[in-house]
Amino acid sequence: MKSTALTAVQIEKATTSRIRQVDFENLDFGKVFTDHMFVCEFKNGSWQTPTIKPYQAISLFPSASVFHYGQAVFEGMKAYKDDNGKILMFRPEDNLDRINKSAKRMAIPEFPKEFFFDGLESLLKLDNEWIKPGIGNSLYIRPFVIATEAGVRASAAKEYMFFIICSPAQSYYGGEVRLKIEEEFSRAAPGGFGYAKAAGNYGGQFYPTQLAAEQGFQQIIWTDAKNHEYIEEAGTMNLFFRINDTLVTGPTSDTILDGITRKSLIELAKYHNIKVEERPVKVNEVVEAAKDGSLKEMFGAGTAAVINPVKGFGFRGERFELENVTNSYASLFKKELTNIQYNVTADPFGWRYVVE
Ligand SMILES: *Cc1c(COP(=O)(O)O)cnc(C)c1O
Repeated sequence: MKSTALTAVQIEKATTSRIRQVDFENLDFGKVFTDHMFVCEFKNGSWQTPTIKPYQAISLFPSASVFHYGQAVFEGMKAYKDDNGKILMFRPEDNLDRINKSAKRMAIPEFPKEFFFDGLESLLKLDNEWIKPGIGNSLYIRPFVIATEAGVRASAAKEYMFFIICSPAQSYYGGEVRLKIEEEFSRAAPGGFGYAKAAGNYGGQFYPTQLAAEQGFQQIIWTDAKNHEYIEEAGTMNLFFRINDTLVTGPTSDTILDGITRKSLIELAKYHNIKVEERPVKVNEVVEAAKDGSLKEMFGAGTAAVINPVKGFGFRGERFELENVTNSYASLFKKELTNIQYNVTADPFGWRYVVE
């Protein structure tokens, strides 16, 4: 499924590399960026020549639409390197499809596939040295689109910029994670844009998350906006529950983001003959399962952390802690997904994408 070279990406190389200044043993997530970035402008009704240039600040008018109306979408993906120096990605077509789905909802023009893959692969090859081999090391890739047209009229802009920036990352472990089941604030509503990776969806979470942090919770478990009766997802992760030996996760909808890690875990579980149920999950069901001990595991799934085991949760002032399990699903899935991503094992699902 390789793109053909329909477009020539114009490349302006950095004269010096900043890589020597980077301490790869102590990376702060998302703080350091590689030498180059991909930029493509949309104007006069079409995407212009894609370019790669040195990572640098950009200049926009204060009236640019994105600053006022938040017309912006993004993606989060990763590149990995195997022990032979091969660069790999995980299901990247799905990230392109999703950013275009998000873009459509925000009235942003879709980005052409060949531009995306030519740009991304050229960028990864140029900044190849920034991708370190070894399980846990990766290059976090952040494609995003912003409305750049100058003017404060509240309507869809006519000018945009598509970027890809990259940040080296280490395996992410934020310590023991405890989540608060939220009943006051909502993340997304039916008919809204919760399914899109649209900037405002995240900005709106920071305040309730700060309040939860004051009570000792790292993230929030969002519930449906109508009755707060069903579990939706957490932060930037889809949620999974292991009740006895069945894996349960909420269905994707207009309020739950269709995570690539989530759908991969569902396939992986089926492959291992683990019973999986994709269905609405009631808050009460999870609370009852925690009380009677049938809730064996709970974890978040997303590109940044792959799988983030949840140690406990809070609901209406009550706190629940999960016992440690032997033969954990979270550990099994994390190991198998990572082995596929780093080219350690066979990939029966066809998820791996080799950059050559
Ligand atoms: C990005 C994201 C996820 C995880 O998606 P992946 O494709 O697995 O990285 C889950 N929920 C939300 C709200 C997200 O933004």
